[in-house]
Amino acid sequence: MPTGRGSRLQGCTADQMEVLFQKIHTLSKSASFHIKLTEGQHYRRFYRQKEVLGDFVPPRGRHFAVGSKPVNSGLGFCFVSHTGSIQPSGFVPLDCGNVRTPALADVYRNHQTFRDLLDLSKLTGKCQSCEYRDYCSGGSRARTFATTGDYLGSEVACAYRPG
Ligand code: SF4
Repeated sequence: MPTGRGSRLQGCTADQMEVLFQKIHTLSKSASFHIKLTEGQHYRRFYRQKEVLGDFVPPRGRHFAVGSKPVNSGLGFCFVSHTGSIQPSGFVPLDCGNVRTPALADVYRNHQTFRDLLDLSKLTGKCQSCEYRDYCSGGSRARTFATTGDYLGSEVACAYRPG
């Protein structure tokens, strides 16, 4: 992902991500270890599409519980930096307050940036109208922010076209 230590690297294209998801999906069926994706929220959409076709990964191989809520920047997650800055995530380094004051829970619930990220109906572009939106939480908000500067825009590394 083009952020943090990887900011000078090229991220995967949407098509490359689909190939990667297929490899992860196939490996998940036989791996003796658990595969965890970071900033790969839209694998949930990929998995759902496979599931509809009867192409399941056994529960021991899945990196998320089917039916569970997705976690994303500012959605079930927040980050506190070494200076106390409260941010949606380490990859969305927007200063929304400091843990010294006000309370962390208050920032998470009421700061406008968190309110935006908690409400998936505020997503824009193709993620706004996507039928998988609640399932994948609009893909990586961090990658979207890093590549476009807009944390509510379309996930650039998702090949899916809604509808
Ligand atoms: S278009 Fe957006 S909401 Fe739809 S599957 Fe892709 S990342 Fe998820």
